[in-house]
Amino acid sequence: IKNDYHSSLAYYDDELLKRSIEERRIIGEFERALEQNEFVMFLQPQVDEAGKAYGAEALVRWEHPERGLLSPAVFIDILEKAGLIYKLDRYIWEKAAEKLAEWKKNNAGAYHISVNISTKDFYLVDVYETFTGLVQKYEIDPEMLKLEITETALMSDFKKNMEILKRLQDFGFKIEIDDFGSGYSSLNMLKDISADVLKIDMGFLRASENEVKGKDILESIIVLADKLGMEVITEGVETEKQLSMLTRMGCKMFQGYYFSRPVPVDEFEEKYGIN
Ligand code: C2E
Ligand code: CA
Ligand code: CA
Ligand code: CA
Repeated sequence: IKNDYHSSLAYYDDELLKRSIEERRIIGEFERALEQNEFVMFLQPQVDEAGKAYGAEALVRWEHPERGLLSPAVFIDILEKAGLIYKLDRYIWEKAAEKLAEWKKNNAGAYHISVNISTKDFYLVDVYETFTGLVQKYEIDPEMLKLEITETALMSDFKKNMEILKRLQDFGFKIEIDDFGSGYSSLNMLKDISADVLKIDMGFLRASENEVKGKDILESIIVLADKLGMEVITEGVETEKQLSMLTRMGCKMFQGYYFSRPVPVDEFEEKYGIN
């Protein structure tokens, strides 16, 4: 027993050490990588009932010179903890605005782009100032830029963050609640928030121990959102079966591998005949 205890401790130490080395590496390389444009915006289509893309979500990737394409799972948490995420987010928001301006100029059609906002962003940047500034700089329509925020992110300083979101909405931005249902106070929150879109993750159903119950809850959320005047998009749609189930339940917008993985902007434009 004693030996096991020590070897598992050693293993634990080893993992901790590896993690802290990884953290320091990410943080140490971040500024240079940002300057060298190693962070790239990928787009994943959001599609309607007819299977037509009406917009996309911007998802960041790190094209690392030695490590290849890094998923956000590798670096987002670390950058959040280090108080650096706002620099990356500002960069991606600007890329999205720039792209929207280009599409507008080329009359590419009314595709919006949804961008992610981290809870930490609210503390380190003036979110209102940043987004309204981008709209002015790139002369785009604010409703073309959708702002995705998780309910957990909102909870941290609910009153203040709600007020900022409200002002952004008044300016014309669309607010999307990301990962809806994954937090602990989803329903309670709906009383106080007037989001434009609820985004439900299919993972919610995949993880559910009781599928029948999970389906009932999913359907109820879709009905509820409709009653409250919100649109619903389901993400993480991977199969035809899921799609037809969601359609039956009244969901009209989807995102997921079934349609497309997140792809480089060029590929997105080519696939949907933009530009
Ligand atoms: P998220 O905002 O919930 O984004 C959805 C994630 O689900 C993306 O992972 C997407 O690639 C993945 N996904 C889409 N369809 C499917 C599907 O059918 N099946 C499965 N299993 N997964 C699917 P990704 O790109 O790895 O991003 C992970 C998370 O990293 C995002 O979750 C978001 O929280 C964060 N993130 C990504 N880009 C940014 C960014 O620019 N800024 C910030 N602050 N966070 C970001
Ligand atoms: Ca998102
Ligand atoms: Ca999500
Ligand atoms: Ca998420």
